[in-house]
Amino acid sequence: MKNKQIINTLKKGFPKSEHLKEETIIIIGAGIAGLTAGQILHHSGAKVIILEAQNLLGGRIKALENFTDSPIELGAEFVHGENSAWFQLLKKNKIKLENIEDKFWEFYSINGEFWSEEDLLKTEEFKDLIRIKDNLYSYRGKEMSIKAYLEQTEELADEGIAVLENWLSAEYGDSLKNISLPAFARSGRAWQAGQKNYTLPKNTFFEVLHITFENILSLIQYEKIVNEIDYSDTIIKVKTIDNQVFEANKVILTVPISILQKNKIMFKPDLPLRRKEAINHLKIAPVIKVILRFSQNFWGNELSGFYSAYPHIINFYPSAKTEKEHILTAFLAGKEGYYFQELEKNKKNEGINFLLELLCDTFHNRIPNFSFEKSYLIDWSEIPYIEGGYSVPASNSYFWRKKLALPLKNQLFWAGEATSARHSASVNGALETGFRAAKQVWIGEE
Ligand SMILES: Cc1cc2nc3c(=O)[nH]c(=O)nc-3n(C[C@H](O)[C@H](O)[C@H](O)COP(=O)(O)OP(=O)(O)OC[C@H]3O[C@@H](n4cnc5c(N)ncnc54)[C@H](O)[C@@H]3O)c2cc1C
Repeated sequence: MKNKQIINTLKKGFPKSEHLKEETIIIIGAGIAGLTAGQILHHSGAKVIILEAQNLLGGRIKALENFTDSPIELGAEFVHGENSAWFQLLKKNKIKLENIEDKFWEFYSINGEFWSEEDLLKTEEFKDLIRIKDNLYSYRGKEMSIKAYLEQTEELADEGIAVLENWLSAEYGDSLKNISLPAFARSGRAWQAGQKNYTLPKNTFFEVLHITFENILSLIQYEKIVNEIDYSDTIIKVKTIDNQVFEANKVILTVPISILQKNKIMFKPDLPLRRKEAINHLKIAPVIKVILRFSQNFWGNELSGFYSAYPHIINFYPSAKTEKEHILTAFLAGKEGYYFQELEKNKKNEGINFLLELLCDTFHNRIPNFSFEKSYLIDWSEIPYIEGGYSVPASNSYFWRKKLALPLKNQLFWAGEATSARHSASVNGALETGFRAAKQVWIGEE
């Protein structure tokens, strides 16, 4: 019901209200949360201005163009679950979706052999790992990291911990030693979108944004880097670093949590203590994608992905949208993300060479090396105005996300993935928060 309501409101807005007709709403950030709020409020009769720091929309939805014939996803790539407004929006726009679990196979490289997930599922060790992972969601005990919990309660070999590290850091955006177990379990229990994962075999997420939000593209003002919000009066003054001032009755902030944590936007008056606490209790860590182009496909056509061997278990997957392009994406978060950052510190391609070596080891040959053509690396913690991957389950984050989502004085409203208690760190979560903020503005009460 809620998903349907979001889709309908995106198309038609809320019923026109007297107060909205007279109001100017400034939205900071043209990621999916900001675009959603912008479109709904525009259709509801408000004057909307979207200020975006970068010279393009999308934020953490971004495609790499001109690297191959078809674009490659640099940010969000998988549709998590079908019970979400995002999934329904894709369906409504007739975007083709492919369920990755149904179609292809994955393998793990273990002691020089390829093990398909299907075969591993017949082994006690692998079944045990899945059991341990699933049990983590029912944890209701005291505060501790997932790493500490595993060390205290499970007799797991280092290889087993490394597999869990890979699975969970990709999903939750940081190392097991930095993920709070109670917060992780809480967010797992809150998730309602479903467990299946889909890709878009024909389109990019970025294209979907253009299709969905084509009516409001003219409302976006690019390269407007907001650095101050003065909400001391009924008319709010939003300032940019080049000293432009925009005036509004209400402001919706959708910037990543990292931007607020680093005080890149100053507030006049200062934000209340509780609000600052909410901002600072949330966490965000580096997430890296490395796109590798080869002159030949050495992994076969029926593969959805594979994992290199312990001690560096890294997930690689084919990411081109056509079979004639031979592209692998390496996804690095958590422990391997930090390790990779260390290697790349001197900018001498040590990280890329390390990934190629892993591929040579995995496939027992030099083909990865001699068919390698070029790479593109994106470390989201280094992208200006984003400065991190996605928000992490940190101590009490469920509570702090909800706190951050509360309007302030019926003037400042908050959206963006980190403010979603139910579907944080996802496109669907960010979209839902855009709807929520638009609704709060429309209702017009604290
Ligand atoms: C590598 C990676 C992979 C991911 N994979 C998936 C996936 O497969 N599936 C999934 O569902 N989700 C995935 N996500 C998460 C998903 O991309 C995000 O949750 C979602 O896109 C966030 O949207 P948002 O609108 O909240 O924020 P953003 O998209 O970050 O938008 C915020 C906008 O604010 C702008 N901004 C920042 N500061 C200022 C300022 N001072 N003034 C003006 N504008 C400013 C930024 O430029 C940005 O455009 C992934 C994220 C990353 C990084």
